[in-house]
Amino acid sequence: MVTIGEIRMATIERPGDPLTKKVIHVPNPEYSELWGHVYNFLNEKTNPSSPLGNDYPKHINPYFGYFGEQFHPILRQPHHFHLGIDLASPIKKPVYSSLEGILEYSGFHVGNGNYVMISHPDIVTEDGFMLYTLYMHLRDLKVGFSKYQKMLREISLRSYPNISITRDTLIGTVGESGNAKGMYPHVHLQCEFRHKDGTIIAIDPAPILGIESQVNRTATLNTEEEFLRLYETDKKNICDHCVEKYWK
Ligand SMILES: [Zn+2]
Repeated sequence: MVTIGEIRMATIERPGDPLTKKVIHVPNPEYSELWGHVYNFLNEKTNPSSPLGNDYPKHINPYFGYFGEQFHPILRQPHHFHLGIDLASPIKKPVYSSLEGILEYSGFHVGNGNYVMISHPDIVTEDGFMLYTLYMHLRDLKVGFSKYQKMLREISLRSYPNISITRDTLIGTVGESGNAKGMYPHVHLQCEFRHKDGTIIAIDPAPILGIESQVNRTATLNTEEEFLRLYETDKKNICDHCVEKYWK
């Protein structure tokens, strides 16, 4: 078993969702050796499949798609912390759950677009952090609560309906809803350790899927002007990952 509480100090606070004013913690790269244990724990406990299916190339946009700082191409914000990874894909491609778990949410959010959140009660650290996975910017949602189940959720936590999700369940299709509109179709996969005291620690999903982590090429840009300059020189390359619709 692994504990995260001890190394909670080795995180940096990031403002998360502006609507809920939630603070999300992310691993501090200065203490990366501490986080190695967490990834080893996950690799021992899980064998996740790719949300796009394992035969599909795990293609990540090198300008914005990795976990960590990016220049946000829609919000046009420098040093925006990207809390997940973006798996580029043609629109409408099926999206599957990477791990088995319990459906926690399926619906719309301004930033996340149509998204699905799944908890993984089997993957809990010794000090009570449970793994959650989120799949964002979907076009269609293929799992959800019925009206009756939604009502039960609102009335009583005790009658909370548990919808089990097995690994490789079809949960939605690739889209560009939310803050991906006009950018390029992709699935944003986010992995969070959540504690019932409210602490959320987002970790890089890349190593869990066997993808090499990288620093985004826009991580160090300070202004929109710098991005536009980069866009001029790297336009073709950036447009291969398609932000064209938005930036032209
Ligand atoms: Zn993303």
